[in-house]
Amino acid sequence: MAVIEVQNLRKYYGDTVAVRDVSFTVERGEIFGILGPNGAGKTTTVECVAGLRTPDDGTITVLGREPRDPELRRLVGVQLQESQLPEKLTVREALELYSAFYPEPADWRALARELGLTERLGARYAKLSGGQKQRLSIALALIGNPRIAILDELTTGLDPQARRDTWDLIESIRDTGVTIVLVTHFMEEAERLCDRIAVIDRGKVAALDTPAGLIAGIAVEQRLRFRPSTPVDDTLLTALDEVREVRHHGGQLEVIGAGNLLHAVTSVLATHQIIANDLRIEQASLDDAFVRLTGRNETE
Ligand code: ATP
Repeated sequence: MAVIEVQNLRKYYGDTVAVRDVSFTVERGEIFGILGPNGAGKTTTVECVAGLRTPDDGTITVLGREPRDPELRRLVGVQLQESQLPEKLTVREALELYSAFYPEPADWRALARELGLTERLGARYAKLSGGQKQRLSIALALIGNPRIAILDELTTGLDPQARRDTWDLIESIRDTGVTIVLVTHFMEEAERLCDRIAVIDRGKVAALDTPAGLIAGIAVEQRLRFRPSTPVDDTLLTALDEVREVRHHGGQLEVIGAGNLLHAVTSVLATHQIIANDLRIEQASLDDAFVRLTGRNETE
């Protein structure tokens, strides 16, 4: 069941077209990623979904309502890039204050613990590191026990360990039934967390699929290398649709192809009781898919 529907969204800032034509639906309980190069229109899109900006054209519904519906304030949690709090507010005060806005808030102490903020409860906002501010903003987005959480640049500024901890937290929140919309620059994050990803480029959806579907869709060549336990008749492999070419390097075989190459090759070997020793795979990644779709790499 769709909880967010965006159809033909368009948004300008003066003469700049920030979002040209974006459509997607987000299903209940999924982690939906929005990935794209700088300036692609990702933040503008989620700000329209969150009811913080008014589209110039197109329609958006969130839980069947118009994004500015006041009822959505307690159903949708939003963490935006560069959110700011008053400098003198302590972490504890911020968490207590935000809890008070909601009829059924989450346990803020538990959230603080999961986000590694317990030691910093007495610290003022101005004294927090960038990563701690980021973690506090995630806690505040989740504090109202939302049904949908919109998280923009969730882990930017976090060190690798804090990033992994945050991923675990996001997965555990999804496991409680919350739908999550994640804007990200990080391929690894998108690949690890997202059920589906919309790749946005120059204000349009360039592709929308599962991470595996995006990778498969670019049909990049794959290569397998292995040492067969007994000699292999090449025709066994070249007969497979997935295989384009077989090369020999001494006792090592190199099989080049596409699609589900690994499965096809290992299955046929298994039926002939041949073991693929030292098997190595060179496969396309989400990075390759991204570059192929946008013509840019993620940091450009
Ligand atoms: P990033 O990954 O850099 O955050 P983004 O994909 O989130 O980028 P947006 O922030 O939505 O992209 O910006 C889309 C376009 O709109 C860019 O060209 C940007 O410069 C422009 N833009 C964004 N916000 C404003 C604003 N408040 N006023 C004018 N132009 C804006």
